[in-house]
Amino acid sequence: MTQYEVVIGLEVHAELITKSKMFCSCSADFFGAAPNTHVCPVCLAMPGALPVINKEAVAQTIRAGLALHCTIAEDVRFERKNYTYPDLPKGYQISQYELPQAVRGWLEIDTPNGPKRIGITRAHLEEDTGKLVHENGISLVDYNRAGVPLLEIVSEPDMRSIEEVNEYLTRLRQLLIYIGASTGDLEKGAMRMEANVSLRPAGSQELGTKVEIKNLNSFRSVRNALAYEIARQERVLRSGGKIEQVTLGWLEQEGRTYVQRSKEDAHDYRYFPEPDLPSLHIDRAWVDELAASLPELPRERRRRFVEQYGLNEKDADILTAERAIADYFDALVSEVGEALPPKKIANWVMGDLFRLVNESGRSIADISVTPARFAALLKLVAGKTINANTASQVLKSMFKTGEDAMSIVEREGLAQVSDATALAQMVDRLLSEHPDEVARYRDGKTQLFGWFVGQIMRETRGKANPNIVRQLLKERLEA
Ligand code: ADP
Ligand code: MG
Ligand code: ZN
Repeated sequence: MTQYEVVIGLEVHAELITKSKMFCSCSADFFGAAPNTHVCPVCLAMPGALPVINKEAVAQTIRAGLALHCTIAEDVRFERKNYTYPDLPKGYQISQYELPQAVRGWLEIDTPNGPKRIGITRAHLEEDTGKLVHENGISLVDYNRAGVPLLEIVSEPDMRSIEEVNEYLTRLRQLLIYIGASTGDLEKGAMRMEANVSLRPAGSQELGTKVEIKNLNSFRSVRNALAYEIARQERVLRSGGKIEQVTLGWLEQEGRTYVQRSKEDAHDYRYFPEPDLPSLHIDRAWVDELAASLPELPRERRRRFVEQYGLNEKDADILTAERAIADYFDALVSEVGEALPPKKIANWVMGDLFRLVNESGRSIADISVTPARFAALLKLVAGKTINANTASQVLKSMFKTGEDAMSIVEREGLAQVSDATALAQMVDRLLSEHPDEVARYRDGKTQLFGWFVGQIMRETRGKANPNIVRQLLKERLEA
């Protein structure tokens, strides 16, 4: 039976973080605003209103292009993409077509067979449309989103499975958030996807006929729509049929695609250079400046965490998932210094700290347990002033109250009892009070050892240094 290979290419739209819209001075931060309050003659397409290019949006596009290892075009042109839709007041969308801002890059993803580069065909700048709201049988239009800067990233048809698609989207989103180009907030529609998919006989070099699935607003929808479409195409091909090149929509509730348009009524967008805007010539020095403004990218950072801190790949991945987490960890390791190895510090962060951060619903960037404060706590553990259990409790209090570790330890008398003389007295007393248990232990019931340790820990409310307690007990019981 013929085996089929899945071929997928993605088009991702990401809203860029800028103060104002793409071609006017309306605020681009419209989320939650009353409908049609972020509008002006330009983004409402009043006759005679003229667009002006938002430099920050161009800068963000270049930064994204650089982060995707693209070639940054020096000559860029905006063009009109003509189509009509109620949420597109001008009757065309200003986009880049022949001369996009960034071309030919790649994004590295993880696969079971190791890292893989997914080619980036182009990343260009355009403007978002407005939004239709369908309510009680009528349709309303909100132009707040019309003209918000939108970055479109088109991949090569390089993905071979739904897992690779998911990984690509996750890494792309992570990257855009890292460099501050987009919020990546899927719930607010800051990232929207279109998936192109075809099948071909395994081993074939030719591309099969693709379909495009539009309007996918979550990674889950992308996965579900692709799974549905791959199964459908395989059925058609197996029964000797042909795939038609169509544009599909996705009905999430019903879990199926539907045909939006066939090849015959494919749009001819009649692109032509936007006469109201100048061509852009991008200064090389500016590109260099933008390159210098990029933070260490997640992939490089993960590699550094492995090399510099000796973390395994998985932990390094978790600790670099978000820039704020990675910043926190870098700062923490440097504050702790030689006192604890980074691997141990990583366990504290991924265990106790993440639990507290998640429970609080706050970002790690604005918790009261700063890296310096946390480091002071970890040094108390390293110096054996407190044991790990106590430290967990102290961290909890610190998180709640913002207090320093040392103040809590002193106030609550939590310092570990490492005074061998005091502990020896306690052990002697315990053994003299429990002659039966001692006798049974000496008769071979060695499981009782844990019980003796437990008694001392209870008496000291967990503060006894367990190693010293064990040693003292051993000496005496086996004497
Ligand atoms: P269109 O002209 O229909 O927009 P493009 O060639 O511009 O098509 O490609 C759009 C997207 O579709 C890109 O992400 C590309 O990688 C992907 N793509 C192109 N051909 C195929 C194919 N045969 N199978 C899967 N994806 C494809
Ligand atoms: Mg397309
Ligand atoms: Zn406006």
